Amino acid sequence: MVRPLTPSELESFPSLEWRRIASRLTPAIRSLLENVVETQNGADLSLDQAHALANCEGADLLGLLVAANIVREELVGNIVTYVVNRNINFTNICFVGCKFCAFSRGPRESDAYYLGLDEVAEKARQAWQLGAREVCIQGGLPRELPKFYYRDILRAVKTAVPGMHIHAFSPMEIVYGVELTGMALADYLSMLRDNGLGTLPGTAAEILDDEIRHVLSANKLSTAQWIDVIRTAHGCGIRSTSTMMYGHAETPAHWVRQMRLLRDIQSETGGFTEFVPLGFVHQNTLLFHQGLARSGPTLAEHLKVHALARILLAGSINNIQVSWVKLNRRLSQLCLHAGANDYGGTLMEENISREAGATAGQYTSPEDFRALIVEIGRIPAERNTTYSRINIQAPLHPEEFSIERSFEAEFA
Ligand code: SF4
Repeated sequence: MVRPLTPSELESFPSLEWRRIASRLTPAIRSLLENVVETQNGADLSLDQAHALANCEGADLLGLLVAANIVREELVGNIVTYVVNRNINFTNICFVGCKFCAFSRGPRESDAYYLGLDEVAEKARQAWQLGAREVCIQGGLPRELPKFYYRDILRAVKTAVPGMHIHAFSPMEIVYGVELTGMALADYLSMLRDNGLGTLPGTAAEILDDEIRHVLSANKLSTAQWIDVIRTAHGCGIRSTSTMMYGHAETPAHWVRQMRLLRDIQSETGGFTEFVPLGFVHQNTLLFHQGLARSGPTLAEHLKVHALARILLAGSINNIQVSWVKLNRRLSQLCLHAGANDYGGTLMEENISREAGATAGQYTSPEDFRALIVEIGRIPAERNTTYSRINIQAPLHPEEFSIERSFEAEFA
């Protein structure tokens, strides 16, 4: 049996060089990793090879982490990006009842809240004054939401702050908006785009497998609906992120299936800006307390998922984000050594992970991001939502990276 790695071995992997680890790998894993390192593309990996990587342990796991770091450097250089944004969770009232969610409330609970359009606009205005150029707006799904409330949020924000990029509404909210209005999906998304929707969070994906989804939330949109919303949004010129929640009731086979599915969608639409692995925060959730899930990912799983994403998505989705609110600072830095290249947003407030028990806080300032990035020997850069503009925050030596490689092709 292969010996799993100790936490100290996992912590020390950033200083490992490929030539030192390569000879310790099983030949099949070594050969497939060398192939991805050479081609910088995970497209040729077979399903069996992807499963072998997702299940690897011991020295093979170390090899996966080191290879992912090399592929990251080749594809996007040494820059670590972040976006100055504000999260606005406009209501916590929700009828969906996801068992992994500790954020939602019934309408009569004492701490239920619902922000009016003026309040959402005011938060956006404050954020702009503090330097944010993106607001990320998502919320619970209250019954009897005014039919065009999502559109009206966009109008309110754009009226208050015309230059603000609005990254808003999960695919679940989009499905709800379609139900409320009776509009066709493409028409609904086009209407939101025409009223200021810039990009869509690819959240509500969790694990794109209906059996697992049923355990997590019997009322959530199906895998097919998630794919439909994302494909249609991309078709309407609305790009999105892509996400996966790991560390609950899923297996490594689900990670592989999800990453390959996202890769397929990307080759069709080109609409994904990044992939964001989201570790399950278990403490205050029904899912954990009812014995339906494990207690979140282990250190090895966090690192493995980020590295696996880098390898399987190489050449397709080249930005891999660490979710700092779900990881602590040291772990987010380690994940940046395991293939990731983006820190996500400053957020200014983040309620969803905090309610579930995450302790990383609600705000990471640009200065904090820069310090965390410089500490691991990388180059901080502020980016816009779609990575088409980046502003490097530190002096550079030209040979350290190629700026062109950190830009994605503009979305056609
Ligand atoms: S995850 Fe979203 S949809 Fe599910 S219960 Fe929480 S707020 Fe509602």
